[in-house]
Amino acid sequence: MPIHHKDSTSLEFANIQFDDSGVPESHQFGDIYFSRENGMAESRYVFLQQNRVHERLSRLTATAAKEQVFHIAETGFGTGLNFLLVADLFLTLSGDDECGARLHFTSFEKYPVRPDDLLRAHQHWPQLATIAERLQAQYPAKVPGLHRLQLHPKITLDLVFGDALNTLPDWAATHRNTVDAWFLDGFAPKKNPDMWQPTLFQAIAAAMKSGATLATFTATGHVRRGLQAAGIYIQRIPGFGNKREMLRGYLQRLATPQQRSNDETIIIIGDGIAAASLLWSLKDHAATIRLVSQASHFAQGASGNPQGAIYPLLQADWTIASEFYSQAFEYARQLYQQLAPDIMVSSGVLQLLSSADACRRARKLLQRGEYPRSLIHGLTRQQASSVAGIELPCPALFYPQAGWLQPVLMVERLISATEQYRSERGRTTHIHLNTEVTQLERQHGNWCVTTNTNASLHAQHVILANGQDVNRLLPQALVPIRPVRGQITQIKPATEHPLLPLKAVICHHGYITPALNGTMCIGATFDKKNTEATTSAADNQSNLTQLENGLSVTMPNNAIVGERASIRATTPDHLPVIGHVPQLREASKQLAELPNCWMLSGLGARGFTSAPLAAEILACELQQRPLPVGQRLKKALAPQRFAERALARNQDPLQLS
Ligand code: SAM
Repeated sequence: MPIHHKDSTSLEFANIQFDDSGVPESHQFGDIYFSRENGMAESRYVFLQQNRVHERLSRLTATAAKEQVFHIAETGFGTGLNFLLVADLFLTLSGDDECGARLHFTSFEKYPVRPDDLLRAHQHWPQLATIAERLQAQYPAKVPGLHRLQLHPKITLDLVFGDALNTLPDWAATHRNTVDAWFLDGFAPKKNPDMWQPTLFQAIAAAMKSGATLATFTATGHVRRGLQAAGIYIQRIPGFGNKREMLRGYLQRLATPQQRSNDETIIIIGDGIAAASLLWSLKDHAATIRLVSQASHFAQGASGNPQGAIYPLLQADWTIASEFYSQAFEYARQLYQQLAPDIMVSSGVLQLLSSADACRRARKLLQRGEYPRSLIHGLTRQQASSVAGIELPCPALFYPQAGWLQPVLMVERLISATEQYRSERGRTTHIHLNTEVTQLERQHGNWCVTTNTNASLHAQHVILANGQDVNRLLPQALVPIRPVRGQITQIKPATEHPLLPLKAVICHHGYITPALNGTMCIGATFDKKNTEATTSAADNQSNLTQLENGLSVTMPNNAIVGERASIRATTPDHLPVIGHVPQLREASKQLAELPNCWMLSGLGARGFTSAPLAAEILACELQQRPLPVGQRLKKALAPQRFAERALARNQDPLQLS
């Protein structure tokens, strides 16, 4: 049963007109994006100067030997001028590679500017071109939710698309005490009365660290009073140019949250895409990191197929799954393209619509307009055949930015890139292969991991990223990870075969990938009863039959050149589990976190799409960094959700699996 969002309205682009001097003006609000006279000077005065950004970044970049994040949040991203100014300043100040300072910028936008309007607006500021071009290249598709862009190794931009009135309170619930400075932009209260509301001010205050500052161009009375009522000390000061007044603010809390020590050890158990993505997302952590795997090579489990498709799972309705998978797909795609463009092939993925029912569902999905064309659109049979490079039997849905990759190489690349990155910065990473974890226990406030070689590894944090094997290590886990066996078959069609030359991934009831060294991958079976990773001839036959039915082709048995079976870890609601491992307090029958014990599992057959974002969520929570998700999504992915639901139904959460 899909979980529907309350705020599932689809996004509209900003309706912009450029005046004679090239300044963008919003049709929706009847207001300009930046001043006609001097947009840059106004932004610098109102937002950067009043938040003392230069002074604070100078101090941070001069002293941050270890990683320290400066977090700015903004209402109204618009064309991104404020962000570009800060990013440019930060890059100038942070200079050399040794500096551990990081810039994190979060911005909320209801009407994303079209990519071509963004480009046009940026032409005003040639001096900001370097960072502006990176933003243009990674600018996300018009999909609601949070989009995390890594514009530079030291600069993260979180763009949250949707009405700030809905998105900001949800985000603030997972970002308490994280913001150093707020930029309250977002058109004048008179032109945009809906946005400047007490709920927004409360959420803004909740996200502020003690000592955080705030600035806004408006001095309107109800904004000033609303911010004061949220506990922020507010001053009226002279505005920019001929504007009489503006506001700046400051928040002081009595108790400040404790900083965690950086001298930690983190153990990650696993060797597939979940473990590799975690390693990458933790690459800036000063802790010693140990990756422990019972296998002799990386990606020996569910991440080890010779080819794997990557594309988002989109439902016609805007559900939690649609939000997570569209966000995760975009994040994974960007990461793979930055780190391993040679390993991911953006061939596009075609999903065949072979029945009247499939066509009806596809029509509904496209008509609801939740997804931009760049993410998914419909193709006639002829169009789909031309994209595929072969004759197809029916129309299709097309994911133009999706594609396929070589899973083992991708896992290896993520791990080696992390090792190199960390060693260049003097951080320690140990990889323990052929090392089976036999026991996991809490000792003197730390975790003790015992291995088959009778070694004991100690760590503050342990992360289980070992698929369905979590069930063995945590038999009392309150998380129903269900093993499902899947077998793929490799085929080598004869020359002149109608499947050649396949150019895109095709999904029918199964899937087929374009050839890699003459061999294509077809699959996959789905077997809940068998948990042995041994291959069977019957499964090859079932893959061939599925292919023949789906694509109306015949394929002789002697075209089979390889096969592979593995066990996927799945969950009952088809979403991964990301976060603290829960435990049950016997006496009170209440749920609690098992201290510093984390898990990333349940990635099913979509690990290469979902693992990078899943790992980023977990790594940010562990490092107390701004999360790439708000409260609603975080709860929907939290390992304890199943036990919570069981308790709410008066069922025993220990009987989940
Ligand atoms: N900060 C931007 C810059 O540096 O270019 C300029 C922002 S522009 C003046 C105001 C922005 O606020 C517009 O992009 C508008 O779409 C956005 N906005 C207005 N109401 C909003 C709301 N309720 N939620 C999120 N964004 C909103």
